Amino acid sequence: MTSGKVLTRKLGEYAIQRGADLFGVADLEPARVYITTQGNFSLERFPRAVSLGMFLNDVIVENHSPDEPRRDSLYWFHVYEVVTRALDQLGYYVSRRLSDQGFRSFPVPCSTPYNFHKLEGIISHKLAAHLAGLGWIGKNCLLLTDLFGPRVRFVTILTNAPLQTGSPIDKPCGKCHVCIDACPVKAFTGKEFREEEPRHFRFDALKCSEYRKEHPCGLCVSSCPRGKPRARQSKTEKT
Ligand code: SF4
Ligand code: SF4
Repeated sequence: MTSGKVLTRKLGEYAIQRGADLFGVADLEPARVYITTQGNFSLERFPRAVSLGMFLNDVIVENHSPDEPRRDSLYWFHVYEVVTRALDQLGYYVSRRLSDQGFRSFPVPCSTPYNFHKLEGIISHKLAAHLAGLGWIGKNCLLLTDLFGPRVRFVTILTNAPLQTGSPIDKPCGKCHVCIDACPVKAFTGKEFREEEPRHFRFDALKCSEYRKEHPCGLCVSSCPRGKPRARQSKTEKT
């Protein structure tokens, strides 16, 4: 029987060959109450989640104008059509690989909400990525990663495969409030992320969603200093 370590390594290699830039596995137990309330699935069936991230090209992130109509926006096309489809496809293949090996697995859709009223999915992809140790949640309610800041999107695969899990990391935003000032509809409260607090303590998702029906906004992604190419360059120089 393949050990959890080998299974995890091989699955990570497979995901990266298929286009993932980040790979991690989350133990969902620490967020049991939150997860079972939001997504209505049991942790007995799916105790872990594979989290996969795709980097958003700097040129796409930085060369868009929130004032242009959404229908004309190449930013919107790439980030929400091309990358969403690519992540859903990647999640599907990784899930199929796990089920081919005899494990239960379910690819959670990248963008389609499970609860349309609250605009929530079966599980928060960001929470899964956080528990997998791929990053921490910033004041902009996005997952900030060491290498890409918030310039990355995620998809999640729920599973019972005995994969090795990562450990969550936290790096507070501190005094920074660049994204809060940049948001045109003031959707952020400026509070730091706390696992036990619901999302609306920090973010008015409806305000953002209403604005984005017309505008291809992504200022909370492009403005964050942690995602700028200069920040990435200094990280890669150190390694
Ligand atoms: S996408 Fe734009 S409107 Fe929505 S939260 Fe980010 S900055 Fe605000
Ligand atoms: S812009 Fe500043 S406050 Fe906002 S998420 Fe990035 S580091 Fe945190």
